[in-house]
Amino acid sequence: MDWVERTAQLRQWTRSGVRAPHKPLLLLYALSRFQQDSEGALLYSAVEDDLGRLLTEYGPGNRTTPAYPFHHLVSDGVWEVRTERGPGSPGTRVRELRATGATGRLTPELRTALRREPSLLGRMARVLLDLNFTPSLHGELCEAVGLALEEAEAPALSARRQRDRRMREMVLTAYEYQCAFCGYDGRIGAVPVGLEAAHVRWWAFDGPDDIENGLCLCSLHHKLFDKGVLGIGEGHRILVSQSFVGRSAAAREHVVMLAGRPVIGPQAGVRPVAADHRSWHTSQVFHGSPRPAATD
Ligand SMILES: [Zn+2]
Repeated sequence: MDWVERTAQLRQWTRSGVRAPHKPLLLLYALSRFQQDSEGALLYSAVEDDLGRLLTEYGPGNRTTPAYPFHHLVSDGVWEVRTERGPGSPGTRVRELRATGATGRLTPELRTALRREPSLLGRMARVLLDLNFTPSLHGELCEAVGLALEEAEAPALSARRQRDRRMREMVLTAYEYQCAFCGYDGRIGAVPVGLEAAHVRWWAFDGPDDIENGLCLCSLHHKLFDKGVLGIGEGHRILVSQSFVGRSAAAREHVVMLAGRPVIGPQAGVRPVAADHRSWHTSQVFHGSPRPAATD
């Protein structure tokens, strides 16, 4: 049994073509809980709030219930559910999962493998992160599920690192070392600081390392873009989600007031973000409806 391969095969999409991080999030959560207590089982009613929050924060905009991955992850051979009545999941009905005292945990075979091979947990977690989430979210996701990962990475990832460096250079140059949303262009000496290259369509979802799929963003706007607070709409105008709330003058100035403003750059002769990557981001990452254009 190759557990890493099995982890890589968790599906990324629902039947209707919506990004589906449900199973990866539950498995990440379960791996983290295994790290803390390798025998413990997760009582559905005790973890549903945690899982619900993860789904809201890291899933696409549509509403969803943690009952789905809790039940459906069983079919992937990494997770088992039992109730007070015995082995087997009662299904995806929330009331049923609560009433029967449903608990889930990693399958005995996987638990044995994880105990036998201490590096396996980290490798499975890396695959879940790499194949389902954009890199800027990996650190906070580990914190959100309580997972402690070693810094050492599999050699396969160093090729990815090199591509990232090339992409960064290409994107920052194309956008003349300026945030495409706010124009921030900080440097220390000659070195840009707080500027990053964002993928519009995530690499994990076939987003190419291409200038038409890149944006130069400051650290704040990169994070908000990857979390679905910001997006790019028709005419390359900035979208700000109605779900975003910030009452301070700083939040208004740095986020709310961006609604409807044109993206800054790229420089002449460079192709802007392609329409299909923009619309992928709007449907799979952007949260809810955009605010109307701000008036200064
Ligand atoms: Zn910015």
